Amino acid sequence: MPNLHPSGELIVKVAIPEPYYQLFDYLAPVATDHSTLKPGIRLEVPFGRGIAKKIGVLVEISQHSDITADKLKRVLRVLDAQPLLSPKDLRLLLWACQYYHHPLGVVISTAFPLALRLGKAVKLPSENYYQLTALGIASTSESLRRSPKQQQLLATLQAQADGMTASSLNAQHDNWKAAAQQLINKQLLQVSSKPLTSTAPQTLTKTPALSSNPAQQAAVDAVCASLGQFGVFLLEGVTGSGKTEVYLQIIHAVLARGQQVLVLVPEITLTPQLEQRFQQRFNVSIALSHSKLTDQQRAAAWLHMQQGQGQIMLGTRSALFTPLPRAGLIILDEEHDASFKQQDGFRFSARDIAVVRAKLLHIPVLLGSATPSLESLHNVMLQRYQWLHLPQRAGTAIAPVLQLLDIRNKTMHEGLSEPLLAQMRLTLAKKEQVLLFLNRRGFAPTLICHGCGWVARCLRCDANLVIHAQDACLRCHHCGTEQRIPSHCPACKTPKLNALGLGTERVEQALANLFPYHTRVRLDRDSTQRKGSLEHYLHQINQGEVDIILGTQMLAKGHHFPNVTLVAILDVDSGLFSIDFHAPEKLAQMVVQVAGRAGRADKPGLVVLQTRQPEHPLLTTLIRDGYQRFAQTALAERKAAALPPFSYQALLRVEAQDADAPAVFFEAVKLLLAQHNNNHTLVLGPVAAPMAKRAGWHRYQLLFQHHKRKELHKFLDKLIPALAKLKQAKKVRWSLDVDPVDLY
Ligand code: ADP
Ligand code: ZN
Ligand code: ZN
Repeated sequence: MPNLHPSGELIVKVAIPEPYYQLFDYLAPVATDHSTLKPGIRLEVPFGRGIAKKIGVLVEISQHSDITADKLKRVLRVLDAQPLLSPKDLRLLLWACQYYHHPLGVVISTAFPLALRLGKAVKLPSENYYQLTALGIASTSESLRRSPKQQQLLATLQAQADGMTASSLNAQHDNWKAAAQQLINKQLLQVSSKPLTSTAPQTLTKTPALSSNPAQQAAVDAVCASLGQFGVFLLEGVTGSGKTEVYLQIIHAVLARGQQVLVLVPEITLTPQLEQRFQQRFNVSIALSHSKLTDQQRAAAWLHMQQGQGQIMLGTRSALFTPLPRAGLIILDEEHDASFKQQDGFRFSARDIAVVRAKLLHIPVLLGSATPSLESLHNVMLQRYQWLHLPQRAGTAIAPVLQLLDIRNKTMHEGLSEPLLAQMRLTLAKKEQVLLFLNRRGFAPTLICHGCGWVARCLRCDANLVIHAQDACLRCHHCGTEQRIPSHCPACKTPKLNALGLGTERVEQALANLFPYHTRVRLDRDSTQRKGSLEHYLHQINQGEVDIILGTQMLAKGHHFPNVTLVAILDVDSGLFSIDFHAPEKLAQMVVQVAGRAGRADKPGLVVLQTRQPEHPLLTTLIRDGYQRFAQTALAERKAAALPPFSYQALLRVEAQDADAPAVFFEAVKLLLAQHNNNHTLVLGPVAAPMAKRAGWHRYQLLFQHHKRKELHKFLDKLIPALAKLKQAKKVRWSLDVDPVDLY
């Protein structure tokens, strides 16, 4: 080899989770077997001055380095005997790093659960394992006549000669632990901790698949025909059309091939119900990954998949990078959901990377939604994605009827019009449930003085303070600042302070007065702070203990309320006037999603949209012609305005505490633009961000746009490294958002 490094030693190139764009060169530890140094292992290395150490990931082995021998430091410790990331995993991360212009070390560390990022040792996950003793196998349930719980548990275990894991028992029995302990005390049962690998289930399924309707069958067949090769499928079907059943049947085919499945959902609250459906159907081990699990649990789930033992991984955005040695399929449920885009740090789109990952792995990816994103529908038109459609609700359920309710000049009771109240009374009289949707928490969004017009503003943000009656405070929803509600106007000293506008707390109070004999529950971020409270409320609702459900967007996602037959969106108009071009799409998706909560069973549902804009084309198209027509119209508008998906964007966000620093920075950026923008990339701004100040930081943004993705990235490839080197860049916080979904 020419150019051997003068040290004569092997150089390892390491990605370190710090905001730098390059890899760092180190010498291998003395006396290491070089065959153990493989890309994808973790290394502990000295970093920076003094004794600071970092955990990095080996990306490349080389024989040369630009660093002189005397400056090269040595790896302190090799953490893994086997790579944790495969070459394809690394390739995907390298691609993501280039596409999102984010430091490689940070991107790679995103792939790991925290425990492994911190350098914890790789331990095979194990779980408590329950197996009957000889005595237990022989005993009759008659002997446990007095304790039905123990009787049931015994019967379950007698049907499973190999014993069962705690998690599969969890799936079948509630509160079984006490009963298990009793059985152990009676020497009928033994418990051991045994790796999950050792059980190969005799059969894949516990319960048979439903017999599909023709649309479902066509969807299942299309994806199954593509197993083992790349393909993107968009499964569009309203809530209740049987998308999940389609997932289950395709997953079955993948599992039967001995392959693994990755299922991503936008919200952690959606994992329990999917997990339950998977558990009911399949006899396999399901790994979960989301932010409510402990670091240990997440690491265990990750390793379980990485080592090839877990068959299904169900998780949120961050689970996307979980290594899958036998990957067979990726599913993204609710693909339109903005939560798939990370909104800080490494701002990646889990949907877009899932497609790239599937391509790399030669597997299909299935995107499901009742309200597909305009991007995905556009990709269908371009024949990049294959469209699968479930046009009707499965089973007997009937689609709800959507209705615009013109509330101009109507008497209103805290946001509830009289015609709506009448409708609510009718529904409640039939012992059916009502769901009210208002996407604003707190009591009222504004405290205003009737005497002089003073408004309570946040001093640190460009925003009004929100009145929270329950906590008796004014709170900023952007920085969390809190203060007491003043009794007198600070400007004119009169006590004429008024609450302006509507929040969920206020509607809740109104409901208490208007419907004193009915039960209510409010579901928003404030009322569900305590762990388990959301589950508790959902349980109450499903048990029929609640007549009126009131909530924010939390309600729009995934939960099934079979006895709800009236849904009202109290204030659709607030979604009609936004400066973000994504707003109409988001509003339409929200309306259809909320509507999907109604009348799932045999009872037809009615969805009422209160509006003062009953002729608004967005609303009328949506109500009259449905989401598909709306999407076509919206896409035509985007095309006319040359907006995404007909062009590609990247947003440079800049913020600083010093009000003048951004201007100085943008002066320097302007010079770079003059130098690097030679492909007609459109540069819009810099302008103050829609929220010009937040938590004391002054915020600006600069938008780059090109009608060719490749050209935009060519430009960014030159601009961003140069920008990162600017000395003015050190005086501000800046970040790049590629394919932004939220311009705020
Ligand atoms: P989605 O995921 O689109 O909301 P689900 O798969 O949850 O739809 O199906 C909605 C309901 O219809 C569920 O109760 C499900 O059991 C039922 N269902 C789905 N497919 C069928 C089918 N082929 N035959 C009968 N019932 C079905
Ligand atoms: Zn005043
Ligand atoms: Zn604030």
